[in-house]
Amino acid sequence: MRNVVIIGSGCAGNTAAIYTARANLKPLVISGHEVGGQLSLTTEVENFPGFPEGINGPSLVENMKLQAEKFGADFMHGAVIDTDLSQRPFRLNVEGEWIETRTLIVASGASARWLGLESEFKLIGHGVSSCATCDGFFYRGKKIMVIGGGDSAMEAANFLSRFGSEVTLVHRRDEFRASKIMLDRARHNPKIKFLTNTVVEEVYDVSKKLVTGVRLRNTKEDRVWDQEVDGYFVAIGHIPNTKVFKGQIETDSDGYILSKGGARTNIAGVFHAGDVEDRIYRQAITAAGAGCKAAIEVERFLEAEGH
Ligand SMILES: Cc1cc2nc3c(=O)[nH]c(=O)nc-3n(C[C@H](O)[C@H](O)[C@H](O)COP(=O)(O)OP(=O)(O)OC[C@H]3O[C@@H](n4cnc5c(N)ncnc54)[C@H](O)[C@@H]3O)c2cc1C
Repeated sequence: MRNVVIIGSGCAGNTAAIYTARANLKPLVISGHEVGGQLSLTTEVENFPGFPEGINGPSLVENMKLQAEKFGADFMHGAVIDTDLSQRPFRLNVEGEWIETRTLIVASGASARWLGLESEFKLIGHGVSSCATCDGFFYRGKKIMVIGGGDSAMEAANFLSRFGSEVTLVHRRDEFRASKIMLDRARHNPKIKFLTNTVVEEVYDVSKKLVTGVRLRNTKEDRVWDQEVDGYFVAIGHIPNTKVFKGQIETDSDGYILSKGGARTNIAGVFHAGDVEDRIYRQAITAAGAGCKAAIEVERFLEAEGH
């Protein structure tokens, strides 16, 4: 029987592990299939406090893991495939093995949606990004492309226009899901050009490990052309990793955990941390802060029960 199990090894899960380990709770972290979480996909992180020269994303999460292990946290490979949170102890199925725990911190993140092109996947962190706040600064004076037609694409395009020499917004239809106000703001921005009824077929150049351009297709005219691009941002939404808690932990209609204040969920003893609940800020530092909050709630919860 564990005092606390943490699902997820990103910034939120690793920070929760550091705090609960230092509180002598001997946490178990279940890493999931994306060990280190989303930061393991990126290269340079320049906005995490404490690193004036920046730090490589995978090194940052690996350091957090080492820090947690130093204080006694255990890490387990594999993903949680089933859960029973109907009574305590909570039960988690990690790829066939059932684990019991008094408390649970859900730090399973929200995965960015990508178009799904092989070249796009290979260039994540090398010019392909899903986070304008994180990576916009790298593209000062450069050509930027944003993919998407919703509010997050408009917000990304507007934000990125502060940096890029030009921003091209590519959308597969000529109608937008974005709200009128966000769309109008983007349309009135002189740096943003719209390409509608257009899809990306290829991101160049995998052989150089750097984004240099894209191949585009206008689906109405069936016209194909190459366009030079330095930064390629996909803004078509995120998928919160909450499928294994369906019907147990309350979520909103998109699957994000609904907070009941602090780090609490609707189930006493189950806490949330990071992007799995946060659809607004989605940063390494906010996820780490949320991991700290969840850990402190776990300590107090167990203390009140006399553990
Ligand atoms: C390309 C890219 C670049 C970025 N750059 C920056 C940046 O420069 N600065 C910044 O502040 N932020 C950046 N971000 C955002 C930042 O990475 C996220 O906000 C942060 O990682 C969220 O942390 P998290 O721990 O909540 O979730 P995640 O990092 O998403 O981690 C989720 C964890 O849960 C695990 N998991 C999921 N499902 C299961 C399951 N069923 N069982 C077990 N484990 C599971 C996964 O394996 C993973 O380990 C970037 C994101 C991306 C994609």
